[in-house]
Amino acid sequence: MSAQASTAGQPALTPNALTVLEKRYLKRDTSGKPLETPSDMFRRVAETIAEPDKKFDKKADVKKLADRFYEMIVSFDFLPNSPTLMNAGRELGQLSACFVLPVGDSIEEIFDAVKFTAMIHKSGGGTGFSFSRLRPANDLVKTTTGVSSGPISFMRVFDTATETIKQGGTRRGANMGILRVDHPNIMDFIMCKADQKLFNNFNISVGLTEKFMEAVEQDEEYDLLNPRDKTKMGSLNARKVFQRIVNQAWENGEPGIIFLDRLNRDNPTPHVGEIESTNPCGEQPLLPYESCNLGSINLGRFVSEGAIDWSRLKGVIHDSVHFLDNVIEANKYPLQQIHDMTHSNRKIGLGVMGWADMLILLGVPYNSDEAVKLGKKVMQFINDEGHAASRDLGQKRGSFPNFIGSTFDKKGALPQRNATVTTIAPTGTISMIANASSGVEPLFAISYVKNVMDGTKLVEVNPTFEQLAKERGFYSAELMEKIAEHGTVHDLDEVPADVRRVFVTAHDITPEDHIQMQAAFQYHTDNAVSKTVNFPNTATIEDVENVYMLAYKTGCKGVTIYRDGSRDEQVLSTTKKE
Ligand code: UDP
Repeated sequence: MSAQASTAGQPALTPNALTVLEKRYLKRDTSGKPLETPSDMFRRVAETIAEPDKKFDKKADVKKLADRFYEMIVSFDFLPNSPTLMNAGRELGQLSACFVLPVGDSIEEIFDAVKFTAMIHKSGGGTGFSFSRLRPANDLVKTTTGVSSGPISFMRVFDTATETIKQGGTRRGANMGILRVDHPNIMDFIMCKADQKLFNNFNISVGLTEKFMEAVEQDEEYDLLNPRDKTKMGSLNARKVFQRIVNQAWENGEPGIIFLDRLNRDNPTPHVGEIESTNPCGEQPLLPYESCNLGSINLGRFVSEGAIDWSRLKGVIHDSVHFLDNVIEANKYPLQQIHDMTHSNRKIGLGVMGWADMLILLGVPYNSDEAVKLGKKVMQFINDEGHAASRDLGQKRGSFPNFIGSTFDKKGALPQRNATVTTIAPTGTISMIANASSGVEPLFAISYVKNVMDGTKLVEVNPTFEQLAKERGFYSAELMEKIAEHGTVHDLDEVPADVRRVFVTAHDITPEDHIQMQAAFQYHTDNAVSKTVNFPNTATIEDVENVYMLAYKTGCKGVTIYRDGSRDEQVLSTTKKE
């Protein structure tokens, strides 16, 4: 696992990681033959991202910094998001994973957004949109005296465009579609993915307001408003709408929910604009035309002799913030508006992967109070040190240009280089490269099959478990097969009880445990936390409802659930279902 990664200048790659890199990350010739090795790639990234230091200090030792960045990446202490690995130092040069685009209420604005989406997807980025500004279906169109087809029908155009681009074979285009709960077409939106053939390039979330949540609690009606002029177009019972959302999520995992007022309560630059959407996986709220680059620290690498190595962690946090701030400079943006917005807020998203690995190495079960407490503590440390690093940069390089009038300015804070510093990304691919558990998720299974692009299937076995089984003398090929069948060890007597206690998987723990961990990390994260709450197939609609309410009550910014077997296609699955 990650803790075994090399620090001698060469990456310790699993065969699966090598396959992913060769297929999608390394420079290749026209016949598809790699033109660089993985260490060449990491070197290319480190050198490109060290270079901007010269802008701020003519005497900067860029070579030394590149060596430091290289060491941090090649050892898998830290990895930037995929577009930075793929594109740094190359012609495309687009380094961000997350974008939000505005969708205005006119044909010109809608199709501008479609074009901008295509440009972003080509470069490996994901896009989020709010469709809440679009007039509802059957509303008047003045210039033609016809009627509008409404937000859901326009979403189809984005979906089709995404399907067609497929990101040039590197990454599938990903979109987030958000509609405010007070939009007159909200019921159609909630149901728009009920047919599993539709909107496969979209994640959808309903934008909930505090007013709506209060109406749910009081079992009251709330108003539906025409976005054009805010006139009332009807009203609905809030509890019924909430239940429809929950029913649909139980049925096939969507829609998710996001709490719009919470995103805006934490908006550091309300004087620049209102947050109406997040990126595709929900962890990064952004203003229209903003982009953000993410990076994740691999926590499994910071356990030494059964304890967290805080001082080494601190050093890597500071270097990671430096790295991500430099990415903003080295980035080639697909649009001038995006360049300008990103440079004026300078948001970065430092997060973690390997949280479950860290807990296993510390001997703490994921579903314990101790783990929740520790999660809060680790994230507080990363957030505090991350902000300290951003202040240091602010002193040397100046604050982000929108600082005056920002919430930092109003609090009388010191210079701050970045409007946000922390985000917990899913780390879907980079955790695979680093052979770490993803984000703040528990292990999905001790052994599972992962479907990647082109229908390739990769078998993953948790390496710490395998190593431990060998050391403790309970390893056998038959047992490993049995575990792959089960996807869990919790009911296998062949595995010693203390090992079973620590090797819990997503399905061994309750949905409430998932939410408690999400809330623990959210507490000290500027942006949001990407997390999927897994339910067994037998979960009831009430179980889902309780979790949506718990997410609200524990201060989460949104929630995404998945009930096993509720969708035809699953990204991750245990071997049992193959
Ligand atoms: N993303 C995307 N397409 C993908 C995977 C990810 O556009 O196929 C974007 C999306 O905005 C997501 C973000 O990248 O929220 C981060 O995803 P993740 O951490 O899984 O990316 P990684 O860096 O591991 O590839």
